[in-house]
Amino acid sequence: MSDEQYSKISLDIDPDVDGCQHGAMIIPWSRDQSSWGSIRLPVSVIKNGDGPTVLFTGANHGDEYEGPVALTKLRSALDYIDVRGCVIIIPALNLPAFRAGKRTSPIDGGNMNRAFPGNPNGTITEMIADFVTTRFISRADYVVDIHAGGRSMNLLPTSIIHDLPDTDQMDRTLAAMHAFGAPYGMVLTELDANGMIDTVVEDMGKVFVSTELGGAASSTVETIKIAERGVMNILKHAGIIDGAPDIPAPSRTLHTPHAESFVTCKTEGLFEICKELGDTVVAGEVIARVHYLEEPERDPTPLIAECDGLIVCRHMPGLVTRGDCVAVIAEPWPAPK
Ligand code: CA
Repeated sequence: MSDEQYSKISLDIDPDVDGCQHGAMIIPWSRDQSSWGSIRLPVSVIKNGDGPTVLFTGANHGDEYEGPVALTKLRSALDYIDVRGCVIIIPALNLPAFRAGKRTSPIDGGNMNRAFPGNPNGTITEMIADFVTTRFISRADYVVDIHAGGRSMNLLPTSIIHDLPDTDQMDRTLAAMHAFGAPYGMVLTELDANGMIDTVVEDMGKVFVSTELGGAASSTVETIKIAERGVMNILKHAGIIDGAPDIPAPSRTLHTPHAESFVTCKTEGLFEICKELGDTVVAGEVIARVHYLEEPERDPTPLIAECDGLIVCRHMPGLVTRGDCVAVIAEPWPAPK
């Protein structure tokens, strides 16, 4: 069976046709309020002749906003006459989560970035992941998935890749990461790579760039500017539109080589941040403390850096619980000799 036949999702535009098309993935969603209802998840395809294909996705996690803002603007601004190849834009990959202002889907609890490659007979989140994998990632040369920290984290504006075993793919991916033009670049070691869109795209031998552009459940003038410039830079880098990428300064490239890069909380209480985003720390320094407001006799628990580096990510809510990642400490990549 073809992909079109086996998925319950349909697409109301034809991605093989030249022009600027704004349509939707139509996802059946039968529920109390709408027995034969559906979700219409916006997809734009801007295509002109042969050439490379770029897939841009935002709101893979629903409470991350630079992607939706930059991609909603891009789909309006891009004239297909200026395009050579194809640009596929999905401003909110997990639309139900985006509409709820949540990281995960309120329909099935699905974390989109743990649902790939998806399942055509699974939950709504899994069906979306499957459709995106088979219909869009399969035809893309580049995939750029724009993330931020959501409500629970804030990060330095960073374009992110992984350390890939294939040197040619790694070179192409590094070049795209630098072309995005974020202030920081990161060769990230994931805590939990299984189910990520990243892994699916990389396993197909394609170029994948993610970002972490800020967080705290909103966006800023600076992070939106970085996202907008970044998507245009990728189109220029891919040769889909004319011009050279606008890179104000080379990305400062970092990595997170060991478990100690991720500082985890082991108690729960009131969070005191002691080192901010962008601060440099050395092993042994106190990054944060946990206070016990309802236990006056109990001393606060310090959270200590176990390696030297730059604070690239911090916990945001004022309360913290056991198992929360409170900070990420990154080091220069490649490591100085
Ligand atoms: Ca995210």
